[in-house]
Amino acid sequence: MKAVYIHIPFCSNICTYCDFCKMYYNKKHVTKYLEELEKEIKNNYNGETIETIYIGGGTPSSLDLEELEYLLKITEYFKTSSNLEFTVECNIENCSYEKLELLKKYNVNRLSFGVQTFNPNFLKVLGRKHNKEETFNIIKFAKELGFDNINIDLMYAFNGQTIDDLKKDLDLFLKLNINHISTYSLIIEPNTVLGINNYENIDEDLDYEMYRLIENTLKEHGYKHYETSNFAKEGYVSKHNLTYWNNLEYYGFGLGASGYINGIRYNNTRSLNNYLKGNYVLDKHELSKQEKMEEEMFLGLRKLDGVNKKDFKNKYGIDIKDAFDIDPEIKKGLLIDDGNNIYIPEKYQYISNQVLIKFIGE
Ligand code: SF4
Repeated sequence: MKAVYIHIPFCSNICTYCDFCKMYYNKKHVTKYLEELEKEIKNNYNGETIETIYIGGGTPSSLDLEELEYLLKITEYFKTSSNLEFTVECNIENCSYEKLELLKKYNVNRLSFGVQTFNPNFLKVLGRKHNKEETFNIIKFAKELGFDNINIDLMYAFNGQTIDDLKKDLDLFLKLNINHISTYSLIIEPNTVLGINNYENIDEDLDYEMYRLIENTLKEHGYKHYETSNFAKEGYVSKHNLTYWNNLEYYGFGLGASGYINGIRYNNTRSLNNYLKGNYVLDKHELSKQEKMEEEMFLGLRKLDGVNKKDFKNKYGIDIKDAFDIDPEIKKGLLIDDGNNIYIPEKYQYISNQVLIKFIGE
């Protein structure tokens, strides 16, 4: 294992679309949680050299300075590589110059901000509390402190959003001049405020038009489209997320976290009570060789480079084309075999699920 994911489930505000593992920030719970997290890490980490740490949530930046420092001290328990990529997710509304300084002091070198949109109406729909000025200020602070590896999340497909609205958002995202952008089409999950209020999705054609607009605009401005929904300037792809898409193993620590260790995928409990009693793991599943090969394909094909044929053969002792009947997809142009890699061409990434489904439980 070379990668570590740590989940901080606390948020100062709950967004209307969120079905992640999260709860309202509560100082009493945070202290106990961090103590338990420290125990979980110390009991399960086997001392490997770690190349990427990703602290996500929830909202890690909802912790106060003292709690944040405790969390960062816990991460010093890992033996880390000199090239460590260390990411912390932050929300604009509870991030501050002091918190960013603290992250810098503890060697965090990548930040991921949940910006989503600059449109005040859509921010309100999402239940997000920040505004444009605060976003520009925090990113400016971060850059002044020397953070150059920054991701921002961009969300689109709001009910009532027009192409013009999206263009205005894209202009502002580009003005932030950061090196990585993750894009999300707004998905309405049943047990969320939006789901309960029957918030309607936009129509599929408009969603497609928006996806294309984002793709073309970001590419025109020097971003490489390297994964279905992710774009990066040269040298700024997310090494941590590539762990997932390359089907490599990783530790998952904290409430609701998932991990993949020694061929076993596991999910931690989402119950804070159980977690605080030390009952971390909710379920686990040992993958068969067939399942590993399927995952290699449906995770790997999210990357624009796709899956390397030689690597697949080295890992599983069989050619991709012998493991899966992909000739029909190749004939239709949904998959390309360029001799080295098998990949979904960019024009079909939007409908990649139609191809990926082939590798689920075949
Ligand atoms: S900040 Fe993130 S985790 Fe928290 S409620 Fe909003 S979307 Fe969910």
